Amino acid sequence: RMYSYREVAAHNSENSSWVIVDNEIFDVSKFLEFHPGGKQILLQNAGKDVTEVFHMYHNSSVLTKYRSKLKIGEVSDYKAASKVRVANSFGDLIPFGDPLWYQRLQSPYYKNTHIQFRNRIRQFVDTEILPNLNEWKENSQPPRDLYLKMGAQGFLACMVGPPFPFDYVDAGTPYPEDFDYFHELILYDELARCGHSAVVAALSNGPAIAISALYRFGSEEQKRKWIPDILMGRKFCALAVSEPGAGSDVAGLACTATQQGDVFIVNGNKKWITNGTYSDLFVTAVVTGAQGHGGLSLILVTKDTPGFSTRKVNIRGSDLSGTAYLDFDNSPVPVENLIGQEGKGWKYAMYNFNHERFYVVTIMARLARVCLEESIRYAMKRKTFGKYLHEHQAIRMKIASMARRCECLHSWLESVVFNMCQMTHEEASMKLGDVIALLKAEGSRVYEHCARETTMIFGGNALYCGGVGDRIEPAVSQVKGYQIPAGAEDVMDDFGARTIFKLARVTAKL
Ligand SMILES: Cc1cc2nc3c(=O)[nH]c(=O)nc-3n(C[C@H](O)[C@H](O)[C@H](O)COP(=O)(O)OP(=O)(O)OC[C@H]3O[C@@H](n4cnc5c(N)ncnc54)[C@H](O)[C@@H]3O)c2cc1C
Repeated sequence: RMYSYREVAAHNSENSSWVIVDNEIFDVSKFLEFHPGGKQILLQNAGKDVTEVFHMYHNSSVLTKYRSKLKIGEVSDYKAASKVRVANSFGDLIPFGDPLWYQRLQSPYYKNTHIQFRNRIRQFVDTEILPNLNEWKENSQPPRDLYLKMGAQGFLACMVGPPFPFDYVDAGTPYPEDFDYFHELILYDELARCGHSAVVAALSNGPAIAISALYRFGSEEQKRKWIPDILMGRKFCALAVSEPGAGSDVAGLACTATQQGDVFIVNGNKKWITNGTYSDLFVTAVVTGAQGHGGLSLILVTKDTPGFSTRKVNIRGSDLSGTAYLDFDNSPVPVENLIGQEGKGWKYAMYNFNHERFYVVTIMARLARVCLEESIRYAMKRKTFGKYLHEHQAIRMKIASMARRCECLHSWLESVVFNMCQMTHEEASMKLGDVIALLKAEGSRVYEHCARETTMIFGGNALYCGGVGDRIEPAVSQVKGYQIPAGAEDVMDDFGARTIFKLARVTAKL
């Protein structure tokens, strides 16, 4: 229904309290008692256009959450501030809040199929993920039916990388035309736009990381048994490599699997395992031979294996991604659950390193951008000392440094992805390993920088769950969770630098 400003103004009492946000009218009479900021502030503003004050203290996802319950109509005499339409642009058009090819620049990398794919994921994130994030925080994982929807959309299948795995998805599953790594980049980038890295990890860790060895080196029987269920979202899968005593140095793993007849008896522990509390399948690194890389094998462990248990690890910001501690106590695992050959576990795990790091960098690049995007919004509405934040030069410097670092990171990422598209896996392993390692180290520094600067711009609201900083609070609090996994930052830098000297010795004129 349409109401005039005058009609809305009459609803200014406890019995009937209406407010206007933008052009929408909300009846908040029954919400007065539940308003986190208190009843009085709503009553003081009842009957009024509260657009400015609303956006000052809330993130717009609040509207998405309450619209269906509280919205009663729109303002008949509303006049929207006129905005310039930018041809061929996409998104909210906060400058640098999306990659610049969304907004105003040309890019050699993207075709129509990428644009269509991006639009599809954006709509999915806007309708299925963003409005529900707060609810999921109260549970410890996103709902299973969301994961099923991602499977049905073909998004999970895209995460194994090109070519699209037609043989392992249900008939009719949609897929992007000419599927390549740029589609995958868009997928992780758009998912991470929700600002919540644990949600992204919960929704992607299985297909993007955990199943790689099974998918590339498993027997056809193993693949048929597991991959379709994982790619269609019916089952969760975790990768269990790290242990309490060994993370970066995989040669130090101590979880053993000793063959006895037709089973391996597994003993030991795993720590930090993403999706571990709710996974159905664990691709697990075990020592089957001598200590060291050559003695490692990968086996498939199902959650119902006798003597096998998981428990939650309280790790900052990772509640939703089910980080777990795994315990194997004389657990029998059928010998046919060995992936590929015994002793090749390290080789199989390494196969996905470039892909895994590309995935992590893409997520970090977007989380950094979320910090930038929200900082620009906030700096244009928050006033201190009689000025908007963006009118203070110190704040503008922060925005500038975030914008240039986000854009440099994204451009480097795109150039790496372009090369991934051109190369065979073998060539990419040889030529891109050090580049992607350094990119990963740079990604976590850019993300850390943006998380720091956005905190200084938002002040207390950066640390407050709910309210205007709702979208950046998880991005800020989870920054450390990306510096360590998939190759700790310093380990990546060291690997990159060692490769530089190795190559210099072999190829350069010194
Ligand atoms: C949020 C999160 C999720 C994770 N998910 C998984 C998962 O799903 N599956 C899994 O198997 N593991 C997972 N991990 C574990 C992760 O892979 C390890 O934490 C990581 O490999 C580092 O190992 P570590 O913590 O044992 O640190 P260590 O290897 O003990 O290293 C400690 C620190 O020393 C530094 N360091 C170590 N060696 C060097 C070196 N040579 N040069 C310079 N500095 C060095 C590093 O900066 C490192 O941070 C996860 C971790 C986190 C935090």
